[in-house]
Amino acid sequence: MSIIEVQSLSVRYRGGITALDRVNVAFEPGAFTVLLGPSGAGKSTLLRALNGLVRPTKGKVISAELGVLNSRGKLRRHRRTTAMIFQQHQLIGRLTVLTNVLTGRLGYYQSWQTLVSRSRADMQHALEAIDRVGLLDYAMRRVDTLSGGQQQRVGIARALAQDPTLVLGDEPIASLDPETSVRVLKQLHDICKEDGITAVVSLHQVELARQFADRLIGISAGRVVFDGTADLLSPAIIQRIYGEGGDTRPQPDAEGDAAPILPVAALEPEPEG
Ligand code: ADP
Repeated sequence: MSIIEVQSLSVRYRGGITALDRVNVAFEPGAFTVLLGPSGAGKSTLLRALNGLVRPTKGKVISAELGVLNSRGKLRRHRRTTAMIFQQHQLIGRLTVLTNVLTGRLGYYQSWQTLVSRSRADMQHALEAIDRVGLLDYAMRRVDTLSGGQQQRVGIARALAQDPTLVLGDEPIASLDPETSVRVLKQLHDICKEDGITAVVSLHQVELARQFADRLIGISAGRVVFDGTADLLSPAIIQRIYGEGGDTRPQPDAEGDAAPILPVAALEPEPEG
């Protein structure tokens, strides 16, 4: 059983770039999945499609709870419990940690009245989330006075304040130094595991992916070219994911069979694709 899946999902942006090409992936509840792939492979597009921020050109996104995400009402409900964590935090620097984390609760309200009717329960919720990431002493500090790692932990707290069932991380540690990256990723991973939150996170660091992922999905030129556990991630597969540096993205109107998702044992000789 999956919590969310994409079926035959293609996304083509205006201008003709096919960012995703007939992708099929189902995400198991509670799994920590890492997306790997070179810049421009389509990782961010997949994450945004899972949150309805990008609409499928073809194919569909299906939530276990709501079915095909094809209406505004369903998307609103889906986003309420789907949290996003971005590389650049997307926090409001001049506001406090607490205020930023409280914005994670906004999806539970229908209108601007949110801003005047924040309940005690929301406040408690936000403070618990801040405590969870170890920043309670900083709750009333302006976010722009914090370090990059602390800011990313505020991003995690804001995600938690949302009571998410699904967390989507778009290169959440890309702007952090190596040591901080490990700490922040470990914290995100451990919290998701403790709470049974399903996570899909794109990373650049293959070694960190190996360390934390239950499952790795390799994306290259808009297609899934690997889907398996860390022990199966051989140098040949890494090469397959990251390629020779060229963009083998299909032309906008190209048709034909999608590249196979490589059966791990069958990597050589290199299949056509
Ligand atoms: P990744 O996250 O793996 O770096 P993206 O999903 O951001 O990849 O991008 C996939 C492809 O889609 C790239 O070629 C990128 O230039 C293109 N792309 C991404 N967003 C847009 C957009 N809003 N408009 C047009 N092209 C886009």
